[in-house]
Amino acid sequence: MAPNDKIAVTLIPGDGIGPECIESARRIIDAAGAGIEWEVCEAGESVFKKGIPSGVPKETIDSIHRTRCVFKGPLGTPVGYGEKSANVTLRKLFETFANVRPVREMPGVPTPYSGRGIDLVVVRENVEDLYAGIEHMQTPGVAQCLKLISRKGSEKVIRLAFELARAEGRRSVACATKSNIMKLTEGTFKRTFERVAQEYPDIQAWHVIVDNCAHQLVKKPEQFDVIVTTNMNGDILSDLTSALIGGLGFAPSANLGNEVAIFEAVHGTAPKYAGKNVINPTAVIMSGILMLRYLGKFEAATLVENALLVTLEEGKYRTGDVVGYDSGLAATTTQYTDAIIANLGKVPQRTPVRQYKPLSIPRLPSDPVMVRPSSRRVVGVDIFIESPLLPAELGPSLEQLTEGTALKLKMVSNRGTQVYPDKGTIIDCVDHYRCRFIARDPAADLRDEDLYQLIERVATAHRWVHIEKLQEFDGEPGFTKAQGED
Ligand code: NAP
Repeated sequence: MAPNDKIAVTLIPGDGIGPECIESARRIIDAAGAGIEWEVCEAGESVFKKGIPSGVPKETIDSIHRTRCVFKGPLGTPVGYGEKSANVTLRKLFETFANVRPVREMPGVPTPYSGRGIDLVVVRENVEDLYAGIEHMQTPGVAQCLKLISRKGSEKVIRLAFELARAEGRRSVACATKSNIMKLTEGTFKRTFERVAQEYPDIQAWHVIVDNCAHQLVKKPEQFDVIVTTNMNGDILSDLTSALIGGLGFAPSANLGNEVAIFEAVHGTAPKYAGKNVINPTAVIMSGILMLRYLGKFEAATLVENALLVTLEEGKYRTGDVVGYDSGLAATTTQYTDAIIANLGKVPQRTPVRQYKPLSIPRLPSDPVMVRPSSRRVVGVDIFIESPLLPAELGPSLEQLTEGTALKLKMVSNRGTQVYPDKGTIIDCVDHYRCRFIARDPAADLRDEDLYQLIERVATAHRWVHIEKLQEFDGEPGFTKAQGED
């Protein structure tokens, strides 16, 4: 695509402060002569009110299929009608697997970190993890949410983080996980990171445990360049990083996939400021800059970015979130926007400008099977049961039920800690037990019939709620032990 070609983009003004932010960004992008043709579409509260439960009507989906690029304001998730967030629907419908959230120190925006040169990007996995939203009440009083992490999903976002580091001339990528506790889910992300990192010897790759990452970000944020992480970790860390540089008014984001990209601020609809012409549109303007670079319009992106930085350097027009809404010094959203437009063509004097190259978005084979082990076998089963019994009553009952089957009871745990056989632990049990049965013959590859027979036996005396096969892949157990399990 030549830089001067017109490109169609789906424009969703959004809810609350969304239309004001989008109008500001759109005026600046148009004034920069970026050559964007906007297809204005609806999503969010107005759509929920029409009775469309996804919050995203067909016309909007059709437009996105045509343009493959969305520039949007925040969408509210109203309580009482509509079930899911329209934002999450959009991200998931188009498999935007990476959420890129850059933050940098902004001139004229004083923070406790001013002068330290914060300039980092959080790359958050955007589809998997606990945000797959697969939840069940396992008993009337015990809820479960499945944390799904795939090697394919991890590899896509990790490769993108390294590609981003290269495109932006960055030195290092840190991988933030909780793999010390969740050895299979967060561990898959970490191991994939270590494997992929070998293909990028020019980039320093390091791992940091996510809680320490939060600590280090507050203590010494300038040590970070790119941070790649799982969905929930990234959600939390990226709000933290926004606060380091002046708040949500300055935090843009890009949701990137192989087919579609969605650009939006990190912030929401801030309803108390809606329609007042006071909010800070910078996060949406910066999301627009990310979009222009994604579309290959590097000149227009630099033009808008420079004008924004010059306006902040001049410090004459700053919004209420920076100078105080009641200070008498705050510019309106419109005044701030006009000042940026007037500064198009000027170059910032004090703020370092980064050189950007096109970002290559990794594409993996569409085969759903990514890992094919050379051997596998079923070595047991975890049966989750709802029971009012205490472990000392439940354990012997289960042992009796296994008689004559191919499996024997190994242990019973309650919320992850072994409670039978008794190890002397002090546990305040709930009515949700994981009962682990393993093959009597340690070399066996159990058949489904063996498991059915056991489940039928257990069901005669207890209410089972969930069953999980215990599998071994290439001789490695595909399951973790309970706390206290030998
Ligand atoms: P929010 O809308 O981000 O607002 C929280 C606070 O952040 C505001 O009260 C304000 O702080 C500050 N703020 C946010 N944007 C600002 C801006 N452009 N300029 C200046 N200050 C700004 O978060 P929320 O109140 O939790 O969420 C409201 C709604 O937005 C919810 O329905 C939520 O679901 C939705 N939401 C949508 C998205 C999205 O569309 N991507 C993202 C997040 C939330 P002060 O009060 O300190 O001035």
